[in-house]
Amino acid sequence: AAKAAGKSCVRTAGHAIDSAMGRRAQLAADLPAAIEQEQFRVVYQPVAGVEERRILGLEALVRWDHPVLGTVPPDEFIELAEADGLIVPLQQWVLRTATADFADLLAGGRDLKLGVNVSVRHVQAGCLAPDVAQALADSGVPPDRLMIEVTESIMLDAEDRLQSDLSTLRDMGCIISLDDFGRGYSSLAYLARLPVDVLKMDREFIGGIETDPRGAALVAAVVELGRTLGMDVVAEGVETAGQLHALRDMKCRYVQGWLLGRPMAAQDLPAFMAAFDPAVFDTRLPNLDTGVHL
Ligand code: C2E
Ligand code: MG
Ligand code: MG
Ligand code: MG
Repeated sequence: AAKAAGKSCVRTAGHAIDSAMGRRAQLAADLPAAIEQEQFRVVYQPVAGVEERRILGLEALVRWDHPVLGTVPPDEFIELAEADGLIVPLQQWVLRTATADFADLLAGGRDLKLGVNVSVRHVQAGCLAPDVAQALADSGVPPDRLMIEVTESIMLDAEDRLQSDLSTLRDMGCIISLDDFGRGYSSLAYLARLPVDVLKMDREFIGGIETDPRGAALVAAVVELGRTLGMDVVAEGVETAGQLHALRDMKCRYVQGWLLGRPMAAQDLPAFMAAFDPAVFDTRLPNLDTGVHL
């Protein structure tokens, strides 16, 4: 079947891969200096409570401001940093920056939680729990405000270590969430073995919730699974009012996505939260997407 697809397709694909490799190689080559020069920034995306009808938390998401290529998304460089051992200094920087920004918000009297994504390479390097503890101590953020987000796309050789690190963090008071839940193939196995408080349902499932009855049934089943296990469930990638209302009807309590708010700079958060309109939870409003991509 691949042969029947025709030679021109193969050539086109080959060309696309070549230029992708060029960019990838450039990013890999530039990464050490970028970390040294701190060419990164952290943006924050709101997470809302459907019952509370307000913003309950923020997820820290890193961006690379490349001097030539412009803003580079984490999906393009986290993997490179992981391959190079650079993930630890990068992650330390993210932890320090995000907790410092967050401490300012808490000082303003806000009741919020902060989610930070972590890499299993950091776990393998043996310093995730101490680095998190350090960032909390330096910033003064209480541990029970911090949610550690791990993805299941983790190598099995680190699993014992991961289990013990997450347990350490949980004993400190941190919240543990399993990110991109449902995307991989080992979600249920991880759920059985890791100390998890929160399930973040992958946005792939949310996209079809209004149009695909099977997709909707799956989402409802994950919400029910969370309830059975005593875990909170967050739906990621909520883009439309219809999706939000379907999730609300399924009793999914926490939502994150462009409908509620795009990732934004820390300095823009107070104004965003002041302007946040809980009416989004009530009726079928038009999409509030501002079209601003960060
Ligand atoms: P994630 O943790 O699952 O983060 C959610 C991603 O979905 C973010 O992409 C966010 O911008 C995007 N998103 C949010 N709402 C919507 C929506 O309504 N529609 C769509 N289409 N997308 C939405 P982003 O910022 O590009 O990050 C991608 C991934 O990179 C993250 O996925 C996370 O796994 C990883 N990442 C980000 N920051 C860090 C970090 O500091 N450290 C590590 N280790 N990984 C990070
Ligand atoms: Mg995440
Ligand atoms: Mg996710
Ligand atoms: Mg992810």
